[in-house]
Amino acid sequence: MKTAIVTGAARGIGAATAQRLAADGFAVAVVDLDQAASDHVAEGISRAGGQARGFSADVSDAASVDAAVDLIAETLGAPQVLVNNAGVLRDNLLFKMSDSDWDTVVSVHLRGSFLMTRAAQQHMVKAGWGRIVNLSSTSALGNRGQANYSAAKAGLQGFTKTLAVELGPLGITANAVAPGFIQTDMTRTTAERMGLTFDQLIEHQVALIPAKRAGVPEDIAAAVSFFARDESSFVNGQVLYVAGGPHG
Ligand code: NAD
Repeated sequence: MKTAIVTGAARGIGAATAQRLAADGFAVAVVDLDQAASDHVAEGISRAGGQARGFSADVSDAASVDAAVDLIAETLGAPQVLVNNAGVLRDNLLFKMSDSDWDTVVSVHLRGSFLMTRAAQQHMVKAGWGRIVNLSSTSALGNRGQANYSAAKAGLQGFTKTLAVELGPLGITANAVAPGFIQTDMTRTTAERMGLTFDQLIEHQVALIPAKRAGVPEDIAAAVSFFARDESSFVNGQVLYVAGGPHG
């Protein structure tokens, strides 16, 4: 059984991805900031017949990342799939964006994905097989109030393509999934910040989406599952927009 790490997996897209990869036959390391929250998701997977364990790590902290990846390799198995999903928002118009709004978002998404990938790739290289999936976003194409987030999500696309070039010869693929509007706690917080109810934000978004519905975490988990498959070995360095239409 191969081991998969999913970061930010205590809720939302990460939790659905952890559940999906477990159903696909991976032993899943559920990684999030809070141990109890990670354990909760891992226990749910175990109850459903899958194999999973919870781990705590701050993906933006090198020591925390290295310790967690070592512990995962020792207790669950050497990781061969890595899903860089952990994320935060600090939305603000540029003129109101603080240094810490910028640094926090870039640290978690970009530095976090870098640190996790650097720690996990050695195990994939040793096995001669690996899958890295990074969570980008339609915001990579530009989104009002998200200079920090859109820069990080566009940066992740460049990061993904470079990983594909460097690691491709070693049996490792790197791809990105770029979700559109997905119903999670993250978008619920966005509604609050905009002074809207969640239902109002959903209605507004659905009007813009050709598929005429909001996305759910399972929509993204299915795309990650595709990239993680053995048969996807010739799909490398791609960005798949999963947004109910050609763009957000
Ligand atoms: P969410 O806020 O519901 O969950 C994010 C998880 O990441 C949380 O459990 C949080 O604790 C964890 N996390 C935050 N900082 C962390 C850190 N430093 N170390 C470890 N874990 C950390 O978000 P979501 O909506 O499920 O989004 C998941 C990913 O998908 C994010 O990268 C997000 O940017 C991306 N995304 C989401 C949407 C959407 O509409 N929801 C759209 C495009 C992209």
